Amino acid sequence: MRKVILDQEYLKKEYEDGKSTIVLSKELNVSRHIITANLREAGVKLKSRGEYTEPIVIGQRFNKLVVIEDIKTKQDKRTRYLVQCDCGRKAKTYGTSLKKGQVACWHCRNETMHKVKWTGPRR
Ligand SMILES: [Zn+2]
Repeated sequence: MRKVILDQEYLKKEYEDGKSTIVLSKELNVSRHIITANLREAGVKLKSRGEYTEPIVIGQRFNKLVVIEDIKTKQDKRTRYLVQCDCGRKAKTYGTSLKKGQVACWHCRNETMHKVKWTGPRR
């Protein structure tokens, strides 16, 4: 496996300040296992499955989405949440999706993608 050395002091500080390995990996544009490997080398005790099990709080914001309600049912193995997007639409989503970086409702994400992809004339 290719070994990538990152600024471990920086990682340690950011991680202990509460940034998750997911956030750090996105920021530094490297995979998560590289972040965790570097944190371990820096002598950081990793939070056990921390970022996945940390509770999501009602009212917590993930980019455009605000968590309104916990809607886990007996059939759901993972916790689902009712969220409201800045555009006013409500959506149901999983906590892990939010933590992994879901930023907006389905409609807004689509719009953003169209804006990025579509450069030709409209029919
Ligand atoms: Zn939206």
